[in-house]
Amino acid sequence: MEEHKRTAEEYIILSLTGASTLLIAPFFIIRFLEQHWSLATLDLVAVLTMAAIFVRVWVSHETYRAGQLLAFLCGSLLFVTVYLGGIAQLFWSYPALAAMFFLLTPRLAALLSILILLSLLPIVTAEPDVKFAATYYVSIIGVLSFNYVFAYRTREHSQQLQLLTTSDSLTGAKNRRAFEEKLLDIVTLQQRHPSPVAMILFDVDNFKLLNDKHGHQLGDHILKQIADVIRQRIRTTDNLYRYGGEEFVVITENATSDAAAKLAEELRNAIQSSIELAKYSSTISLGVAQYHINESGFDWLARADRAMYQAKAAGRNLSRVA
Ligand code: GH3
Ligand code: MG
Ligand code: MG
Repeated sequence: MEEHKRTAEEYIILSLTGASTLLIAPFFIIRFLEQHWSLATLDLVAVLTMAAIFVRVWVSHETYRAGQLLAFLCGSLLFVTVYLGGIAQLFWSYPALAAMFFLLTPRLAALLSILILLSLLPIVTAEPDVKFAATYYVSIIGVLSFNYVFAYRTREHSQQLQLLTTSDSLTGAKNRRAFEEKLLDIVTLQQRHPSPVAMILFDVDNFKLLNDKHGHQLGDHILKQIADVIRQRIRTTDNLYRYGGEEFVVITENATSDAAAKLAEELRNAIQSSIELAKYSSTISLGVAQYHINESGFDWLARADRAMYQAKAAGRNLSRVA
């Protein structure tokens, strides 16, 4: 099995929980020696839960719920520590609120931060020093706003980057890199939760002739048209990938090879009957393969490829099932 590569989310949660465990542990010892039992207990709870989340993410690689739990924990620990330890504990709100923006979507993090700040209002305003309360709220709201803007922009950039690195600029289909990642994901997931999943590999027939006769630009146009026609025919849960020059793959989840064979024929017909494509007699040959449990992504692709070549050998504009 392929080595698991830790994701950025995993690193964020591991470093946050790891650092929190190490940072809060000395406070537990100090509170314990001071015999300040309520704060000592709180610190102990914080250290143990942070360490538990660390171990859980380290072992399971699951980050979504761990992130939410951690954000919730940061918020509640902050709330309790201020109520138990007084306004000196307010300093913790700066790292706690910053952490929210690493763990949740910007909007959710902002919402939770505002709720926490509101919940701290009675304690902060009970302070006779009005200037202190004002300084605290102005500075924390400043930090909150910066966090929000920064998190929002980072999220936008990473979404744009994700799109750029995974899509094919000519056809708008997902690219080969995205396809290879998807194969890995499917193989990993199928080992835990087997369910029918099939791939349809197809290749444009006599595309070299078309390029030679009408030029490369028209060839490009045809590729775009083909991708458009296919996208209109597949479900939103199915994905279209441009695997190579004029070779594409559709991965269709929750489909047996019978269902995928039916879809392959539909796709072939759709291409053949597209008015724009019919002008140039553009057709495709398709190979269908349902995933076999325990086979590698490479073997699965090779079976679809062999089926596609059988369709070519049998005369093109055909589909064959592996
Ligand atoms: P077959 O039916 O056996 O698949 O024949 P074919 O001519 O389609 O097969 P071949 O692999 O010989 O030719 C593929 C052609 O696709 C060659 C290449 O110039 C063309 N091609 C690959 N990528 C692109 C592209 O992005 N744009 C254009 N216009 N042509 C491309
Ligand atoms: Mg080809
Ligand atoms: Mg071809």
